[in-house]
Formats: sequence, structure tokens, C-alpha cells
Amino acid sequence: MKQYASMTHAEQKAEYDRLLNEYRAFCDQHLSLDMSRGKPSNEQLELSMPMLDVLHGQHDMRAEGGVDIRNYGQLDGIPEVKRIFADLLEVEPDNIMVGGNSSLNMMFDCINWAEALGIMGCTPWAKLDKVKFLCPVPGYDRHFSICELFGIEMINIPMKEDGPDMDLVREYVENDDSVKGIWCVPKYSNPTGITYSDDVVRAFAALKPAAKDFRIFWDNAYCVHHLSDTPDQLLNIFTACKEQGSEDLVYEFTSSSKISFSGAGIAVVAASKANMADLKSKRTIQTIGPNKVVQLMHARYFHTADGIREHMKKHRALIEPKFNVVLDAFDKELSELGIASYTRPNGGYFISFDTMPGCASRVGELCKQAGVVLTTVGATFPYGKDPEDKNIRVAPTFPSIEELSQAVTLFCLCVKMASLEKLMN
Ligand code: PLP
Repeated sequence: MKQYASMTHAEQKAEYDRLLNEYRAFCDQHLSLDMSRGKPSNEQLELSMPMLDVLHGQHDMRAEGGVDIRNYGQLDGIPEVKRIFADLLEVEPDNIMVGGNSSLNMMFDCINWAEALGIMGCTPWAKLDKVKFLCPVPGYDRHFSICELFGIEMINIPMKEDGPDMDLVREYVENDDSVKGIWCVPKYSNPTGITYSDDVVRAFAALKPAAKDFRIFWDNAYCVHHLSDTPDQLLNIFTACKEQGSEDLVYEFTSSSKISFSGAGIAVVAASKANMADLKSKRTIQTIGPNKVVQLMHARYFHTADGIREHMKKHRALIEPKFNVVLDAFDKELSELGIASYTRPNGGYFISFDTMPGCASRVGELCKQAGVVLTTVGATFPYGKDPEDKNIRVAPTFPSIEELSQAVTLFCLCVKMASLEKLMN
């Protein structure tokens, strides 16, 4: 098939009419499919159901060290869970604080505390005229929503093949003391699937921020979510920071949301000794202790970080075929037409898809009219504004293979139609 841009107007029109007929047939099927959110499927959730049984009939409700998990206390989490996450994130257990069920909630807390109370004695951000965050784009919409809620100005930082544009990051961070943070999803990034290179991680560790209370929000949500036998390797940011003496720069987050149950898992923050003391001084007022019943369930079910790594192979077996359905369809339907580009991630939950500039909203509209919901177009950018109107986050995990095949066929059709509409006008 010829590239669309090199077709004559008459050829484009003929192709469009053919596609329109196919599209109408789709509309007549009254589909109702959802490719919008990166949620695990029911089958994935089933994988962790035996976890609910591990405490049943057990009489020993004490964690290592003797704390009764049914009672108050152990603010930073039970030792066995701290050890598992310390192993996953390659830090010491003392540098881990276990939170509730959501890492996003912990990120929100960190920003809320910085706004209201200040980081390590610095002026609370809410008292400053201007607070800015750097946002590698495309990125995770819920990070951006937190900034928007607190009135934090967001600055787009383009993503390169190996992570954010670090020259630009350095320029902002080292020259503007109103720049207080940056959002990073360093492994299998949401949505691009990119893992930051060693050079990028080292460049983060070497930053000399103008603001003493600048923090890197290192959201390592997909640290064990591989889709390949040759998983990406992410350099440990704390190791890189240690070489620079800059460990206080980083808050690292992760959770078991896409390991066990989304919404009923365990979240953690990893941080330097000084940051940990600062965070705990606030957390200790916020709660008398986390949900340790859920923590012990996880510890007795997974046992070790290797237990989690083994479990993730079962997730991979369920979701890799779904990624392949989508990528095969893109390869077959779109790769030769010169109208799209897309990522082929080694892990994580998303495929990042770029249409021709100015076409993404139209694709979203056409899909919606035919019964397929995509992630809101623009959501991968601060303020919901994709300056080029081209990025779409494709989330293949939740629908069944059959639903996904239908949805992606329609999606490709809509991409072709929107591209031809652009080219013909
Ligand atoms: N961080 C990233 C990058 C995500 O993609 C998600 C969920 O999609 C989350 C955090 C949410 O994590 P949690 O369930 O631990 O709040």
C-alpha cells in the first residue's frame, strides 16, 4: 500500500470512502469497549486470590519483631514487607516507609506536606508566589492533576529515546529556585515505555538545584513489570546519588497495585535518612499506623522479592499476548502508511501512539462515536493540552483478547480516516 501522503487526491478520496463504509459497519455493531485506563484484567486479579487465604485460620498474628498486626503501631511498616520492597528497589530497609494502598496517595501527601509545612524546614510552597514542576511529556495524567490541584505551574520537558531532555532539565533546575520538582517514571515509563539510560540517571543525580527543597519524584511504578526475557535495566538512582552526595534529591515510590490488587495493595516510599526523618515527622501525626493486615498477607503470600518476580511472570503470560494483538494490528494496518508511530515497550502497561500532528482528537472522537473509549486525548500532557494533538495512550491490559482485537481494528480504521481527512483538507 502506498503512503497516504503520496497518494493523489482522487486516491485518497477513494480510500476514505472505502474506510467510511467499514466504519459505518462498526457503528452498526453498537460496540462498548474501553481501552482507556491501565487497569489489570480480572484474570490478573485472580492470580492473587490465594493471598486472601493466607491469614485464614492462622493464630499467629505477629509480624517479625513481635508487633501484633491487628493493633496500632509500626508506622513505617512491618520488617518483612520493608525487606521485600527494599530488595525490589535496591535500598536498605531503613530507607523504606510503607504507606497505605496507593503510591499516588503518597506522592499527593508529599506535595501536600511540602505545600502546607515545607520540606526539611524550608518555606512551605503555599507561601511562595510561584511553584513550578517539570513534567516530561508525554507522561502520567494523575501526576499532572496533583500539580493542577495545588496550582503548581507545569513545564513540559520533551522525552528523548533514553529519558527526559536532561540539558533542559538542568537549565531549569539549576537556574530557577521556583522549580521544586520533576515527575519521573524511570522504568517502562507511562505511557512511552522508555527506561531511562544510565547517563540520564547519573545526570539526575548530578543536578545542583537552585532550590534547596527541589525533589525528584521517582515513580518506579513498573519496576518488576517486564514483558520480555531481556528486561530493561534501570540504574539505581540512590547509588548514582551516593557518588554525588545528593541522596536527599530523591523520593522514590512504588506499589503492589499491579502485582497483587489495584486498590488493595501496598505502597512504599524510599528516601534518604534525612528525607525519611522529615516524612515520618509528618506521617506520625497523620496516622497511628498503616494497615498491617494487608502487609502481612502480602509478606506471607510472596515471602520475598523473588516471590514477587516469579508472580510477575504469570502477569506477563496474561498481558503479553494483548500487547502483541495491538502491535501486530498496528504493524499490519498502519506501519506502511506514513501516518503513525508507536512504541514497542519491554514492560509496563502502555503503548504510546502518535498520529500525524493535529489528528489525535479526531481519532478519539471517531472511536467514541463507534463505541470504543480511549484515554482522553491530551491527558498525557499537563493541563490536558497536547500542543501537537498527536499522542494517544493505548492501554491493552484490561479488555479481553477478543474485545481488544475489535477495538484495535476500529482504532486503526479511525487513525486512517482522521489522517486522510487532514491530508485532503
Ligand atoms: N504511577 C504510575 C506511573 C502509574 O501508571 C500508576 C497507575 O496507573 C500509579 C502510579 C498508581 O499507583 P498506585 O495504585 O500505587 O496509586
